[in-house]
Amino acid sequence: QKILIVFGTRPEAIKMAPLIKEFEKHQEAFDTKVCVTAQHREMLDQVLNFFEIVPDFDLNLMKPNQNLYQLTADVIVGLKEILEKFKPDYVFVHGDTTTSMAASIASFYFGAKVCHVEAGLRTFDKLSPFPEEINRQITGRITDVHFAPTATSQQNLIMEGISPENIHVVGNTVIDALILAQKKLSNFEDSQIRQLKNIVNEDKKIILVTGHRRENFGDGFLNICKALREIAIREDIQIIYPVHLNPQVQKPVYEILGGIANVSLIDPLGYPAFVWLMIKSYIILTDSGGIQEEAPSLGKPVLVMRNTTERPEAVEQGTVKLVGTDPDKITTHVLQLLNDVDAYETMSLKHNPYGNGDTCASILSILT
Ligand code: UDP
Repeated sequence: QKILIVFGTRPEAIKMAPLIKEFEKHQEAFDTKVCVTAQHREMLDQVLNFFEIVPDFDLNLMKPNQNLYQLTADVIVGLKEILEKFKPDYVFVHGDTTTSMAASIASFYFGAKVCHVEAGLRTFDKLSPFPEEINRQITGRITDVHFAPTATSQQNLIMEGISPENIHVVGNTVIDALILAQKKLSNFEDSQIRQLKNIVNEDKKIILVTGHRRENFGDGFLNICKALREIAIREDIQIIYPVHLNPQVQKPVYEILGGIANVSLIDPLGYPAFVWLMIKSYIILTDSGGIQEEAPSLGKPVLVMRNTTERPEAVEQGTVKLVGTDPDKITTHVLQLLNDVDAYETMSLKHNPYGNGDTCASILSILT
């Protein structure tokens, strides 16, 4: 069977990497090729290098001031030639990016079956996250085989009328990736990890911050930065913030937090350095999806700077909390975790509702 795996951003690369490795182990059964759209460039390449993945096709689409219209069109048009040349039986897409949505449309036009990894996540709020909720709903309409991470995501798909026999609950491949990265970390050190060792003050509690959601552009990021400026007054903490490369994120963050003591603004980290830093951290503040899934494996409390999440499982078990972007609310929750040991312990339970590292093996056995 011919398999084409298509992705374009950092989080997709992290979550597809262990699947590519699994397909590599089974070359007798599958002829697998990897196509990147490079919706992100640098952040994608960091992941490809770490996992030693060399794409067979690279659409190299990223442009300065990239917009969704152009990106969608470029993915569809760019994939036409690759689909016609390689003629895959199955195209694998992931999650909720514009790459995934456009690639599933192109694959449908071509007549390949679409397999969706991380299927069925929903907020059912068209605008949150934007454009991801609609990207994943469209992808889900087109998909032939849905790999849902949890029973909740399976249920969401059933509610949308997807036939249950086409849905497989397999966990999330991000846990496979995290385990691979942790294994490599035991005898691996790169320049970023060396740099972090110089930055991290082991005597302080590390608050790790990331953020990139379009819905937080503007006021959201201004508020998040105001809260961080407030929290940074405490002397027993250190805020470490790898800042996403999007200019809409860079501008407010460097303007408001640049030069503040206790706040280290650094470039986005490669995956191994980021995992290293998650392990060192005390609290994680983020609007990211993947980090909500990874942190429970490491026993790290996560405060999510959004009002909704498509990942309710860890919120229900109590290790992830939604705090939105109101500065007072963010500050209050961070201070509570810093001051109240019981509250901290409840949120740092080491149990992961998103998987145990065998997701990729399950996907391959379902396909065969
Ligand atoms: N991550 C990384 N370097 C960073 C920040 C995050 O490697 O500087 C990883 C993180 O561990 C997670 C993924 O990137 O696996 C999350 O990506 P992002 O937050 O960009 O997207 P989302 O998960 O929200 O789709």
